[in-house]
This record gives sequence, C-alpha cells and structure tokens, in this order.
Amino acid sequence: MQFDFFEQDSLFRVLLDNIYDGVYFTDTSRRILYWNNSAERITGYSREEVLGHPCFDNILVHVDEDGRSLCMGHCPVAACIEDKHPRQAKVFLHHKEGHRVPVFVSVAPIFKSDGELFGALETFRDMTPELALLKEAESLREMALICPLTGIGNRRYAEQTLQNRTGEANRSGSPLGLLMIDIDHFKSVNDLYGHDVGDLVLKTVARTLAGAMRSYDFLGRWGGEEFIAIIPNVSLEALNRIAERVLVLVAASTHQVSGKRLMTTVSIGGTLYRIGESGENFVKRADELLYESKHKGR
Ligand code: GH3
Ligand code: MG
Ligand code: MG
Repeated sequence: MQFDFFEQDSLFRVLLDNIYDGVYFTDTSRRILYWNNSAERITGYSREEVLGHPCFDNILVHVDEDGRSLCMGHCPVAACIEDKHPRQAKVFLHHKEGHRVPVFVSVAPIFKSDGELFGALETFRDMTPELALLKEAESLREMALICPLTGIGNRRYAEQTLQNRTGEANRSGSPLGLLMIDIDHFKSVNDLYGHDVGDLVLKTVARTLAGAMRSYDFLGRWGGEEFIAIIPNVSLEALNRIAERVLVLVAASTHQVSGKRLMTTVSIGGTLYRIGESGENFVKRADELLYESKHKGR
C-alpha cells in the first residue's frame, strides 16, 4: 500500500515536472512548497532558491501591464487564498536575470480532504512573442540580420522592415506606428560599471522590450542604446498605451551587478506613419519627439 502510494507520488512528480508550463504550489502563507522544471526555465530561479520562501520574497514580484506591483494586494495567489476562488491573469514576472517576462497565470485553490484550504496552485505560461520569433531568428542570423548581443533584429533588418511595412501601409492605407526608444544616461552606466555591465543592461532592456511587443510587431536595435519598434495596425491611443507599458516595464526591470540591483529608464518618441512619406522621414519625426522627451526630463 505504502509502496503503491510512493510509486504514484513519484509518477505525479515526473508528470508535473514535464509539463511545458511553469507550475508551483504555495501554502496559505504563500510559502513555495513545489516548483517544477518549467518554473525554473521560465523564471531562472532553481528549486533550491525558492522552496520554503514566500513568493513575495523578492522572487517573482509580478507587475501588471501598468507596472503596478501585484504583491501588495492584487496578487492572484493572495486573492485566491483570500476568497478560495480560481482566477486567471496576464502579468509580467520578474526573471532572475532582471528582465520582465509576460506570462498568463491560472491560480486554483487546493483543499485538504476535510475541506480546509491547503494552499494555491499556480500555473504560468510564457507569452514572450520573442519565442515565436526565435525560430525565425535562427535562419535570420545566417543572413546577418540579428544583433548578436541582444538577439533582436539589427539596423539592417530594421531598415528592411521599415521599407516593407511603409510600402504595405501605402498600399493598404492601414495605420503604422513607430517608437524610437533610447536608454537614459547609458554612458554613465558604462563609465560607472564598465562596458560588460553596459552590455548586460542592453540585453536586459532588449528582452523586456521584446516581451512588451505583440508577435507581429518588429523590434530592432537601431544603434548603440537605441531601439526601434515598428507596430502595424495601431491607433494613436494604442501606440501611446504600448509606449507607457514599455516605460513602466523597463523601469520595473533590474540588472544584477555584483550583488546590487541596477535600474534603468528609457525615453520614447512615437508617431504614426503619414501616407506617402519616406521611411527616413518617419524615423526622423520619431527621433525629434524622442529628443524632445529627453529634454523634458527623460
Ligand atoms: P541620454 O540620456 O541623453 O540618452 O544619454 P546617454 O548617456 O544614454 O547617451 P549617449 O549618446 O551620450 O551615450 C550612449 C553610450 O552608449 C555611449 C556608447 O559608448 C554606449 N554604447 C553604444 N553601444 C554600446 C554597446 O554595444 N555596449 C556598451 N556597453 N555601450 C555601448
Ligand atoms: Mg541614451
Ligand atoms: Mg542614444
């Protein structure tokens, strides 16, 4: 009997560990009691680092699309423990390396046989559009269109995409948005912490930006610490919302530097395409707006 139970128990563990989604379980005080392989892969945190710790203990620190921390009252796990109801939400979790990862979470209350609440089970799915783009990136790398440091499109790829998308917009008349995104005071990161740390910050920001985009948006490195996002089928309001989301998600990302957590911000210039204008002109207008936002205090 004991043996059967043990066998079954380890079978369930193997099954859970092989689920593609992240799975974890917390008791009613939100202490993490179980953490599967995919949770390790998606968050970067190993079992040893999280087991026994409360989930709000500087580990996942979910934020919503507006950058609001969910740990203080809005956390789906806390809410589920509170009202014993299952729920789902799209949140951005904190990866161990610092960037923000978009995930779709489902939380369910787990009860003991006597009906008392035992804890909450959370599953989370990585929604990074970059994942779909990574496959594409493999073949693009060979064509020298990918920036080797950040893994996103390079200047050449961005210029090609700009030409294609503005061509499409001219034919179809559908709206096209553009964001120029520049890291604030990046030179001082290099000066204070060295070029390698600068590179790390570039990588983290690129990953957070990729997570903030939709799968049909284009994100590229325009040069240095400047990124370009080309966003089809977007209204001015929606473009504004995306820009706001980018601002808060970058501000909510951290970079680990010898035990310390470094933070960065970006400034953004965003504009809609005007039918007939050149790609250069389109970029120039976004650049001017970016410059303006730098002058207004970054
Ligand atoms: P601002 O807030 O006005 O944007 O100031 P900033 O310091 O970010 O801008 P500035 O143009 O003065 O400096 C950009 C710096 O980015 C200078 C350059 O050395 C650094 N940089 C460019 N490419 C790379 C790179 O690939 N790696 C690292 N580590 N630094 C880079
Ligand atoms: Mg800059
Ligand atoms: Mg710059």
